[in-house]
Amino acid sequence: MWQRGRMHSAPVDVDLALLGGGGAASLVLAALDRHGVRGLRVTVIDPVHRRGQDRTWAFWDRPGGDLDPLLSASWQRVEVVTPAARRVLDLAPLRYAMLRSAAVYERAAAAERRLGVTRMLAAVDSVHDDGERVLVRTAGDAPTVRAGWVLDSRPRPPARPGRTTWLQHFRGWWLAAERPLFDPGRAVLMDFRTPQPARGVSFGYLLPVSDRYALVEYTEFSPTLLTGAGYDAALAGYRDLLGLDSARLTVREVENGVIPMTDAPFDAHPSPRVVRLGTAGGATRPSTGFTFSAMRRQADQVARALAEGRPPVPPPAYPRRHRWMDAVALRALDRGTVGGPEFFARLFERNAPERVLRFLDGTTAPAEELAVMSSTRLRPMVTATVGDVAHRLRDRLRPPRPVPAVPPPVRESMIRPEV
Ligand SMILES: Cc1cc2nc3c(=O)[nH]c(=O)nc-3n(C[C@H](O)[C@H](O)[C@H](O)COP(=O)(O)OP(=O)(O)OC[C@H]3O[C@@H](n4cnc5c(N)ncnc54)[C@H](O)[C@@H]3O)c2cc1C
Repeated sequence: MWQRGRMHSAPVDVDLALLGGGGAASLVLAALDRHGVRGLRVTVIDPVHRRGQDRTWAFWDRPGGDLDPLLSASWQRVEVVTPAARRVLDLAPLRYAMLRSAAVYERAAAAERRLGVTRMLAAVDSVHDDGERVLVRTAGDAPTVRAGWVLDSRPRPPARPGRTTWLQHFRGWWLAAERPLFDPGRAVLMDFRTPQPARGVSFGYLLPVSDRYALVEYTEFSPTLLTGAGYDAALAGYRDLLGLDSARLTVREVENGVIPMTDAPFDAHPSPRVVRLGTAGGATRPSTGFTFSAMRRQADQVARALAEGRPPVPPPAYPRRHRWMDAVALRALDRGTVGGPEFFARLFERNAPERVLRFLDGTTAPAEELAVMSSTRLRPMVTATVGDVAHRLRDRLRPPRPVPAVPPPVRESMIRPEV
């Protein structure tokens, strides 16, 4: 590891520099190790060395993959609940899975050791790509790095503002019970019985990892954040709605987050030898905020390419037509022409769950997409499509506008976790 305070004049040469060492980079490191990439000089530059539980990833996949030994829990059946109905979805051949960050970071650390990766605890300041090598300068006194390829997952705004700029923002409590209280076989994917915001969609969910420990979360898709007290109240309200007795429960951990939900374009390949990954590279699905599966897919593509001596440039996280469909869906939700609970409930009511999940991953064929889209109400979608086209044309004529940054999560809370 590079030590702070040591002065280097000549740049440090590496084959691959990972700027940002969070979710996307951790998956890349593990994939490099898995694909047997050896002899590559790799460095990770991040002011923070990520360890421990700072987030919980939920995603769907087929059982039997490389992440199986790391999962905290998985469910083949999940519930989608609206005020009108409770549907139990059988996700076979897929399943919904939960992965806590500590396991991902630990596996990445083990991969780093095997790959002989160096780390710089520094913030990247500037990146200059001359087409042959990329010069990476850091703030402070860390050495300059000259890299053959750069995988950049530092958070950054999209290239241009979107037509709809929403946020997925949430607070979750890890709840512990002294006696069995949860059914680990029953996970709630989305429960729309929460009071709906004036503009946006809200839902709660419940992911039990044992009969005594569960993650309960309140989530909003909307343009603005709540206050700390607002999240506490919404989450307590959802806990009560589930019939969970607060007197029998202890909050052990609190999880807060904000994820962009926008049709704004993220530039995934800004220069010949720089590739952006993770949220910064457009891996966050605009209509759901789900990011993990795309990051995982791209990590595998990057590692496979390097193992075969090809440039580590993965295909876009989602096909262009999916991004367009998401722009239309986001617009319909934002302009209130379609209600969120109704929109998501219809998707799952009228399609096989597996197809909806593959659709959300961006891996369906066009004929399947037509089937999924035709299960939404036609008139609001046509209105949103026309509005989207008009908005795109207007945007071409307007001077460029600044892109709003994703705000940090609200952490103030009256609830103190008890360990
Ligand atoms: C609490 C939370 C829960 C989530 N849950 C889910 C989920 O269940 N399912 C799902 O699909 N998605 C989820 N997401 C969305 C997404 O999967 C995560 O945000 C994921 O961590 C994104 O990975 P990333 O590498 O893009 O960003 P990050 O993991 O945030 O990593 C970015 C890294 O860049 C570093 N960095 C910042 N500035 C610099 C700089 N100047 N120089 C160098 N490094 C820098 C940071 O320190 C950080 O380590 C969640 C997000 C959050 C915040």
